[in-house]
Amino acid sequence: MVHAFRSSGVAASLMQGQSFCPFIPVFGPPDVMFERGEGTQLWATDGKRYLDFLSGIAVVSLGHSNPVIADAIAEQARTLVHVSNFFANPVATETAIMINDLMRDAGAGDGQVFFCNSGAEANEVGIKLARKFGGRGRHVVVSALGSFHGRTLAALAMTGQPAKHEPFQPMPEGFRHVPYGDLDALVASLDASVSAVVLETVQGEGGVIPGDVAYLQGVEAACRKRGILFIVDEVQTGFCRTGRWFGFEHAGVSPDAVMLAKGMGNGMPIGALWAKREVAAAFVPGDHGSTYSGTALATAATRAVIAEMKRIDAPRLATEKGEYLRTQISQLPQVDHVRGRGLLLGVQLSGGLVAKDVYLKLLSAGLVVNAVNDTTIRLAPPITVSTSEMDEAISMISAALA
Ligand code: PLP
Repeated sequence: MVHAFRSSGVAASLMQGQSFCPFIPVFGPPDVMFERGEGTQLWATDGKRYLDFLSGIAVVSLGHSNPVIADAIAEQARTLVHVSNFFANPVATETAIMINDLMRDAGAGDGQVFFCNSGAEANEVGIKLARKFGGRGRHVVVSALGSFHGRTLAALAMTGQPAKHEPFQPMPEGFRHVPYGDLDALVASLDASVSAVVLETVQGEGGVIPGDVAYLQGVEAACRKRGILFIVDEVQTGFCRTGRWFGFEHAGVSPDAVMLAKGMGNGMPIGALWAKREVAAAFVPGDHGSTYSGTALATAATRAVIAEMKRIDAPRLATEKGEYLRTQISQLPQVDHVRGRGLLLGVQLSGGLVAKDVYLKLLSAGLVVNAVNDTTIRLAPPITVSTSEMDEAISMISAALA
């Protein structure tokens, strides 16, 4: 059977003559089929226009089909797409130096980069690095309940959502989960078997829950005292989404390693692990790898993203636009509060409203958001969103909630 598309009949026409859906059904039935994007706007195959207030999922932070990034990708595609990791290429090298410069400016110090293809892979390499750094018998990673670190087996085991583990038991061992924001619980979990603590600076998939500044500082201090690595997963929060280049800057902490993906490629599949030099030194040749690590095409996208984010002062824009949205949306009836940082916002609904219903109502009105839990709508529009697009979205949200 083909998936039923809720809001358009495109599946039937595209799949004419097919007796079954071509996709393995891990994502559930899609609601719309999009064929074109420009900035904040998307167009479905039936011609309907939408505003994308989710940026994919916090991915296209510089807008869909951004011409600067598109040109960089096209030019690189005509120059050099890929060489093996037996060799270097100038684009990956330059991009790794740029990322390290950003980390140094953010207060994390000097380090090195491993490029991969997704957020889950960035977490996998972070877990392996923590185990190698800790050594035999000191391999446990402590992470938070409600966290999300990806769908590969170890990243899933680190993800603090037991329901997602159940179908795949037994999970890889060596993971321990504690309530997010509870410093005492975290400190109590730090025994001699722990190599690292891995936290999101804002729990994105967990409901847009910002990490308290004192909590993150307390975790860092507890790790330092015991020689445990303090690692942050900035897959969703990195690259200016929260109003700083990286979410950890809000707390003034200095992580030992940082996972990156999503916004760093503006839609090009790329991720990275950055680690302080003395931590990265735990790895030797052969400890990790990936055919596509540092491929020229993907790193050209990231190089262009960094240059463009600097040019437009993306951290300032995310802060200002986030504040505008937060202020306006907080005043709407049926909104309990708006939480988050920068342009990663959770709208907490009240009055018994169900987030999934609000999502569907907004989708039919032409606004893409997502229901991140039963009562919270997540907003993460492109940092390039215009004031008139924000006003258009606010009036759609206001109408849907009324
Ligand atoms: N880590 C965080 C904080 C995420 O939000 C996500 C994805 O939502 C991931 C890791 C996994 O990234 P990917 O889907 O690229 O594997």
